[in-house]
Amino acid sequence: MSLARLHREILGCTRCVEAGYLPRAAPVLSGYPDNRIMLIGQAPGAVEAVRRLPFQGRSRNVLMGWLIRAGFSSEAQVRRQVYMTSITKCFPGKGTGGGDRRPGRAEVDLCRSHLDRQLALIKPELLILVGGLAHERFLPARPLDALVGRLFDLSGQEVTSGTHIRPLLVPLPHPSGASRWLNAVENRRLLDRALRRLRPIARSLLDAQLVGA
Ligand code: SF4
Repeated sequence: MSLARLHREILGCTRCVEAGYLPRAAPVLSGYPDNRIMLIGQAPGAVEAVRRLPFQGRSRNVLMGWLIRAGFSSEAQVRRQVYMTSITKCFPGKGTGGGDRRPGRAEVDLCRSHLDRQLALIKPELLILVGGLAHERFLPARPLDALVGRLFDLSGQEVTSGTHIRPLLVPLPHPSGASRWLNAVENRRLLDRALRRLRPIARSLLDAQLVGA
């Protein structure tokens, strides 16, 4: 299957509406067949659902700032060279606390085959995992401070920076600001470490993608 056809199928998906979890479906994703880096978030927010593009709301500047610290030259380069998707692909609506509702297990399961097929087609060499649902899918049952600043292989084993194992998994906190995790100075140090370790890996993949273009 081509990526264009997969995108058409995902963008036309209404499974969660038919199952009664969402009033309407507006799947969000972006990316190109030559992307070697995939960023997986939790679910799009209200702004993303309107614009139908990932990371448009208040988390946009924070995430782009992190990725530029990790070696990207600009937001334009991120959007061209990173395949951006999420565990569930439609805005889940607001939760009781005022923030975005966390998609439930059934919604994650309904959306799972879309992500499986995206992974199978893109075959990313680097997976940047942003936020709790993405961490749970690939690196379950671990606190954030046991994830951020470390590198993992697809089996969940921690690996060293010099490894040639691919794909490499790099967990980051969610940039939305809803979590207070980054208020602690020791956690901000973990984020600094994560971005430092991400930088040489991202740079080598970006250079390889440019050479192959
Ligand atoms: S969240 Fe996923 S499974 Fe549910 S309607 Fe949107 S694309 Fe389909």
